[in-house]
Amino acid sequence: MDLGLSKNETALREKARTFALQVARPRAAAIDRDEQYPWDIVKALQENGFLGMTMPKALGGNDCSFLDAVLVIEEMAKCCTVTARIVVETNMGAISTVMAYGSESQKKLAARLVLEGDKPAICITEPEAGSDTTAMTTRADRRGDVYVINGRKHWITGASVSRLHLIFARVFDERGEELGIGGFLAVRDESKGLRVGRREQTMGLRGMPEGEIIFEDLEVPTTMAVLPPSGFRRGFADLMNAYNSQRVGAGTVAMGIAAGALDHALGWTKTREQFGRPIGEFQGIQWMLADMEVQLNAARLMLYQAARSRGPGNSAFPDPMLAAQAKIFASETSIKIVNDALQIFGARGYSRELPLERMARDVRMFTIGGGTAQVLRTLVASKMLGWKLPQTRGGYMPKPSMRDAAE
Ligand SMILES: Cc1cc2nc3c(=O)[nH]c(=O)nc-3n(C[C@H](O)[C@H](O)[C@H](O)COP(=O)(O)OP(=O)(O)OC[C@H]3O[C@@H](n4cnc5c(N)ncnc54)[C@H](O)[C@@H]3O)c2cc1C
Repeated sequence: MDLGLSKNETALREKARTFALQVARPRAAAIDRDEQYPWDIVKALQENGFLGMTMPKALGGNDCSFLDAVLVIEEMAKCCTVTARIVVETNMGAISTVMAYGSESQKKLAARLVLEGDKPAICITEPEAGSDTTAMTTRADRRGDVYVINGRKHWITGASVSRLHLIFARVFDERGEELGIGGFLAVRDESKGLRVGRREQTMGLRGMPEGEIIFEDLEVPTTMAVLPPSGFRRGFADLMNAYNSQRVGAGTVAMGIAAGALDHALGWTKTREQFGRPIGEFQGIQWMLADMEVQLNAARLMLYQAARSRGPGNSAFPDPMLAAQAKIFASETSIKIVNDALQIFGARGYSRELPLERMARDVRMFTIGGGTAQVLRTLVASKMLGWKLPQTRGGYMPKPSMRDAAE
C-alpha cells in the first residue's frame, strides 16, 4: 500500500525497524517478566536520536514531524510496547505541551532532561477525577514567588522513573480566589514535597511503572507555571489540546502491536498444518487474515492522517476530531486483531512462550488511558452536533423545541 511517505520518512522508518528488531525485540519478554523499566533501551534510543526528535533543532531535537514520530512508534510497538511508549512520551504529550506553551527556560529544562533520557510524566488523573478531569482537587496556592501544591494523583505513567512532571492543579491566587486549572513543572528529587506512592499492579505494559504521585506542600516557583496565552481561566482547554498528540501516539502503539501480532499469525498460517494442509488453506483462517489486514490498514491511515493534521510550528497539535477518531478506532480494532492473531496460534497463542499473550495484555489499555473510547465518542459527537455536551447531571438540557420533538 502506498502510504505517501517521503524518502526521508521511509528512511527513518527503516532505521526504526532495524533498531526495533535488533535492540527492542530481544528484550521485550524480559522487560515484561521482570517488570523493570528498561534503562538500557532508553540509552540505546538516546544514542540513536529517537528521544526528543520532535523538539526544535535549537533545543537539541531534530524538528521531526508527528508523522515521523508515528512511523518510529509503529515499528517499536511491533516488537516491544514499552520501548514504543518511551518514544511516545519523549516526543509527544508533556514534551509537546512544554514546547508549545512553555517559557524559554522551561523549554530548555524539558529538552535537557529528555535528551538525558528522561520520560516526562503527565499528572492529571486522581482517584475521584478520572474521565471527569475538572473534578480534580489537587490545588496550587499562590504564596509570593511560589505555588504550593497539595494533592494526590494516581495511574501516572513513569511514576518512580520520570524526573520531569507536568502537574495539573486548581489554581488559587493569594486571596484564595480560584483562577482555573493550570499546569506546573517540577523535577523529582530536586523538589521537596513530590513523593512517589504505590505502584499499580498492571495487566500489561509491565516494564512501564504506573503509580501514585503525592504532593505535600510542593513549592513550585511561579516561573514553572506552564501558561498558554489564554491564561489560567481558559488555559486548561489549551493544555489538554496538547493531549491530542499523545492520543495519536497511544493509538499508534496499539496499531503497532496489532501489526506485530498479525506478522506472527501470518507466518504461522503458512507453517502450521492440520488435516494434512497448512491452516492458511482454510477459508475460515483466510477471512480472519483479510479482516485483520483491512482493519489494520484503516487504523494506520487514520493515525497517519491525524498526525499529518498538525499545522506548522510547535504550537499546533493534531486536529482533535481526527485524533479522537483515530484513537477510538485504532485502540478498539487493535484489541480485536491481537485477539484473532492469538486465536490463530491455538493453544500456543495462550502460552507465555510466545509473545501473543503479552501483546494481548499490552494492547488492552489503549481504550482506557489518555481518554476512554466512550469519552472520546462524546467529543466526536459534540463536534458533529456543534453542541457542548457537559456530562454532569443537569449540565445539558436540549432546547425546548427539540425536547417537544422527542416526546
Ligand atoms: C495504563 C494507564 C496509564 C495511564 N497513564 C496516565 C498518566 O500518565 N497520567 C494521567 O493523568 N492519567 C493516566 N491514566 C489514567 C487514565 O487517563 C484514566 O484511567 C482515564 O481517563 C479514565 O478514568 P478512570 O480510570 O477513573 O475511569 P472512569 O472515569 O471512572 O470511567 C469508568 C468507565 O465509565 C465510562 N465513562 C465515564 N464517563 C463517561 C461518560 N461521560 N460517558 C460515557 N462513559 C463514561 C468510562 O469510559 C469507563 O468505561 C492512565 C491509565 C492507564 C490504564
